[in-house]
Amino acid sequence: MGSEVYFDNNATTRVLPEVAAAMQPYLTELYGNPSSIHRFGAQVAQKISEARSQVASLIGAADPIEIIFTSCGTEGDNAAVRGMAEARPDKRHIVTTQVEHPAILGLCQHLEKRGYRVTWLGVNHDGMLDLEELRNSLTDDTALVSIMYANNETGVIFPIDKIGEIVRAKGIPFHVDAVQAAGKISLKVKDSPVDLLTISGHKFHAPKGIGALYVRRGVTFPPFIMGGHQEKNRRAGTENVAGIVGMGAAAESTRKNLVQESEKIRGLRDQLEDALLESCPDCRINGRNSERLPNTSNVSFRYLEGESILVLLDQFGICASTGSACTAGSSEPSHVLRAMAVAPDWLQGAVRFSLSRFSTAEEVCYVNEKAPLIVQRLQGLSALGKLAGQQQAQQEKPRTGNGVGVRG
Ligand code: PLP
Repeated sequence: MGSEVYFDNNATTRVLPEVAAAMQPYLTELYGNPSSIHRFGAQVAQKISEARSQVASLIGAADPIEIIFTSCGTEGDNAAVRGMAEARPDKRHIVTTQVEHPAILGLCQHLEKRGYRVTWLGVNHDGMLDLEELRNSLTDDTALVSIMYANNETGVIFPIDKIGEIVRAKGIPFHVDAVQAAGKISLKVKDSPVDLLTISGHKFHAPKGIGALYVRRGVTFPPFIMGGHQEKNRRAGTENVAGIVGMGAAAESTRKNLVQESEKIRGLRDQLEDALLESCPDCRINGRNSERLPNTSNVSFRYLEGESILVLLDQFGICASTGSACTAGSSEPSHVLRAMAVAPDWLQGAVRFSLSRFSTAEEVCYVNEKAPLIVQRLQGLSALGKLAGQQQAQQEKPRTGNGVGVRG
């Protein structure tokens, strides 16, 4: 197999052909500004409103007006949290979790330095929150709660409706980072006790650089970007028209195919996990006891380093990722796995495989054929494990052209 096996769809996805086709006219002849009065602009505005309805349908919003287009998930998260904080200036407490994406983590750390008190809810070994801990954390001073729908590293899904009920009972606004959930599981925000919800186009086959923030009708939302009157004064700046059209088309296609595709993807993911568990000694799946996204598998290989595995997988043309955030050349163990109290000997060897509707059984077989070879080789190097092995692993680890380093 010469082509790449792309199992890194939680990082980003391939643009669907029908999405690229829908965008094309808005990159070429239909270049009008949607704010213009003339027909040339008005037809673009009309297309944006169609895309708004398509995105609203994907997440089950009651009214397309509740959708604000943004540039990405990070912007949506920032706009939501900062907006809610600004709307309740007398409240100085934020509740979130230890396993959020850096878009929320980094922002809340920043707000902590600016004088907010932040409660960082922990998770158990299965990656699950304790709802009593959440309930007990809410006070009269709580400005907002921001909790992710599904974890980007493990795929673990939080019980958003139950969480929302607890938060709503206290009259506190609730934001959900649904960047990894949208397009992978069915969402019905209309019936959910959720006030704001962030999604991002490039996670479900739209291009990068376009996202959306759902703001429930009636929720006070000061704009994050100020200036013009676009997006009904909620997000200034001339619209990314082609991106919006693409996100609408991707939302439409994803919604129509969701049930069928997610079942297929879950089958492939389970097949991958079962085979890895059988063929790789000292391997386990993080978060497997919890409800998870159908496409995500976070696999830990004991005593190994995720990055070494990735390099060797890449040499076989297989794209995956570690769960860890890399900073300036040194790799930090994943904050998500640490929060799950994954033991040190399993922590570094985590690899995330994330599938999409483009994934095939043939690709899963290919990964299942190559992964044990890589693991055997690296485990051989570190088997002696902690004694001479580690030293030896440092010297020998990953080199090209050494028998496993051949692109298949
Ligand atoms: N939130 C979660 C859970 C994510 O997984 C990501 C991206 O990986 C983001 C937010 C940020 O989205 P974007 O890349 O569109 O800024």
